[in-house]
Amino acid sequence: MPKPVVPPLHLSTTFRREPDGSYTDGYVYTRADNPNRRALEEQLAELCGGATALAFASGMAAIHALFQTLESGDHVLIPDDVYYNVRRLLDGVMQPWGLTYTAVDMTDLAAVQAAVQSNTKLIWVETPSNPQLKVTDIKAVCKLGEAAGAKIGVDNTWATPILQRPLELGADYVVHSSTKYFGGHSDVLGGAIVVRDDEEVVDRLRRVQHFGGAVPSPFDCYLVSRGLQSLRLRVLQQSRSAATLADYLDKHPAVERVLYPGLKDHPGHETTNEQSTGLGYGAMLSVCVKGGADTANQVAERLQHFQTATSLGGVESLVEHRRSVEGPDSLTPNNLLRLSVGIEPVEALVADWERGLGVVG
Ligand code: PLP
Repeated sequence: MPKPVVPPLHLSTTFRREPDGSYTDGYVYTRADNPNRRALEEQLAELCGGATALAFASGMAAIHALFQTLESGDHVLIPDDVYYNVRRLLDGVMQPWGLTYTAVDMTDLAAVQAAVQSNTKLIWVETPSNPQLKVTDIKAVCKLGEAAGAKIGVDNTWATPILQRPLELGADYVVHSSTKYFGGHSDVLGGAIVVRDDEEVVDRLRRVQHFGGAVPSPFDCYLVSRGLQSLRLRVLQQSRSAATLADYLDKHPAVERVLYPGLKDHPGHETTNEQSTGLGYGAMLSVCVKGGADTANQVAERLQHFQTATSLGGVESLVEHRRSVEGPDSLTPNNLLRLSVGIEPVEALVADWERGLGVVG
């Protein structure tokens, strides 16, 4: 047999049964397991430092699967600035199913403690949060969760395991939208849950994955695996550029404030220093421009390197007026633009904003 350096793609949905009834390496049917998915899951478990990883068709499918390990009547705590579709998932799918939740400011530990109920089974952390970059003290919330008998799940999509390692800080599960930095090229949807060491939960998740069927295709697994090879390089470069851009924007007279944990006056700066790997503050930032939504949109439209589009974590820089995407219930300020910093030369990105902000004033 040849020994390819790049793993082959296994598109077959089904695998031959041996005369004795067994299946080679346990592969029967691709919804249950597939060589590309298994390879990706092994790669993800190692990358995130957990015992087991499970791959899903999107980040939301992964989050949905984790909620489905809970029982009707259970209660979940979520951050008030959580990725808006998580709240929609809870309102539109999980509440009718019997799960209740409370949204709380997770930067305020006393508020988290006060919101815990006797039936709270999961504390869902997203740090830094989307889009206001609120920073939660993961260790402190884990301690609180342990005392309350609740598990801790952290959405680590924005920081990536290069910059933040929640399982090593005490979290039980870490979740990623692989659509973002893992894939890295805005051409694949995916999600993953990595479990620190809980066989019972892994078993439940495998059932949701296998029987629910929200699994990634072999090609999607292949693309995410390929993206992971350059994850570290991309994240370090993108994070450096974001820090430079944040410094520039922070001093610009047309900017009201910059939300970026790398800035010394960001309320989560110290916590980030304590709980990050020390390699950077991430490649996501939000900018509140002076003026309202119209001004913010005019600025975004004048940018050339930053394309106006949703999503994040790819090699190309993106900008988005977040509130108009999130809809009428949005808590996001009207003048906020969310930036995903790509791999373009940082001088070009700074010049882009110099031009864009020329309309303000
Ligand atoms: N979590 C965070 C923090 C996100 O930003 C997103 C998407 O933007 C998701 C989860 C959902 O991921 P997906 O779009 O892959 O379902």
